[in-house]
Amino acid sequence: MAYPDVFEKLVSLAKRRGFIFQSSEIYGGTGSVWDYGPLGVELKNNVKARWWNAMVRQRDDVEGLDAAILMHPKVWEASGHVAGFSDPMIDCKTCKARFRADQLQGAPCPRKPSKHPGEHADCLLTEPRQFNLMFKTFMGPVEDSASVVYLRPETAQGIFVNFLNVQQATRQKVPFGIAQIGKAFRNEITPGNFTFRTREFEQMEMQFFVEPGSDMEWFERWKAARLEWHYALGLAPDRLQFHQHGETELAHYARAAFDIEFDFGGTLGFQEIEGVHNRSDFDLSQHQTVSGKRLEYVDQAANKRYLPYVIETSVGADRVTLAILVNAYREETVPGEEEGRTVMGLHPTLAPITTGVFPLTKKDGMPEKAEKLAAELRKEFPVFYDDAGAIGRRYRRQDEAGTPFGITIDQNTMANDTVTIRTRDDMQQIQLPITQVADRIRAYLRSDVSTAEVKHFSPV
Ligand code: ATP
Repeated sequence: MAYPDVFEKLVSLAKRRGFIFQSSEIYGGTGSVWDYGPLGVELKNNVKARWWNAMVRQRDDVEGLDAAILMHPKVWEASGHVAGFSDPMIDCKTCKARFRADQLQGAPCPRKPSKHPGEHADCLLTEPRQFNLMFKTFMGPVEDSASVVYLRPETAQGIFVNFLNVQQATRQKVPFGIAQIGKAFRNEITPGNFTFRTREFEQMEMQFFVEPGSDMEWFERWKAARLEWHYALGLAPDRLQFHQHGETELAHYARAAFDIEFDFGGTLGFQEIEGVHNRSDFDLSQHQTVSGKRLEYVDQAANKRYLPYVIETSVGADRVTLAILVNAYREETVPGEEEGRTVMGLHPTLAPITTGVFPLTKKDGMPEKAEKLAAELRKEFPVFYDDAGAIGRRYRRQDEAGTPFGITIDQNTMANDTVTIRTRDDMQQIQLPITQVADRIRAYLRSDVSTAEVKHFSPV
């Protein structure tokens, strides 16, 4: 099935509901930098918490780390980023547009979008020039070459240089991993597609250190585990696939690399959201050489020392959040109503707001009762209280926010303490004693299925 391109509508919904805003919008925006609004920050935090739980908390063989963004400049010489972290760039002298040379065939000519750059008679393309993607700045008061530092273009190097610190502090034995979440910066030549490719983004990376020889077995295990993680976020299985790096794509030190791709719909189609790489001992060996410090692991039981191989899993927090938003966006007709609705079918455990609480009217003690329930539920779940406007409108706003439940306080609540719960996906409305609401929501979130699959709460 071909998925439609929902980007334009999604950008507008994201702004309207407060998921994502353009950075510095009142000044005309900053190139491909975005800010997360009240709903977006909750969603992205939920994604990061899910990753941290799966990768660190629920395992005893992975340790957490939060390394600094600014690192010693030699790190980037050792890693190869100073010499080689560049993309070939081509400019069009006629229309002043800039392209990545390796993406020319996929890019439209700005003057004639049905053609590619170089195909229009007026196109005047330059030769490809290498453009380093690292942001450079200066440390200290003097701006000279001795004080150059870089904003890290990936979080991984913070892990490699701390390999022995973590191993010795935790007394972990190989195989074990180190995981971290943090900002990375790349001066991308052709950013775009909303938050898909930005110049400032967050990565969730894990390096798993293994004995050489066991690397391919661990590589396969991590590949499978990471795909499972994406399924558990509610991404449609037919929108996920592996892409194996061929000979030409593979970094010279990499023994194997697979991308997990998500189908973003439209012409963008399947694109990388995560990379799973077997990096051999390349990074540790480079840092050992450049720093002059021994980074070998000492296996006391087997009485040997070696540089471990590394299996890396690297996923963009923003890119996977975008995949989740694209996956969730849907428009549908509503039986008996002229106007359809837009729904963000977010997995209930990821939704920024778990439940809306709505007094049907602003009188007869309903707001007081609703506020009391909201305060009670808020101890455990993110709750949105709304007493303004028609109830249908309030439901619709929460549908767009992706809120899986709505609880309405009505005449029945005042008479016999039952409330109406509406589920976002099937719009079913069920009466339930007010005392059972928290239990139901809790059970529901634990059940790990979408609200469409869990048909309903049993009626009282
Ligand atoms: P590309 O070739 O598309 O530039 P890459 O292969 O260099 O990407 P990696 O270095 O493997 O990407 O980065 C790992 C993950 O970090 C990617 O799968 C993606 O989710 C995320 N990522 C990388 N670059 C960006 C970016 N500019 N904006 C948002 N996320 C990014």
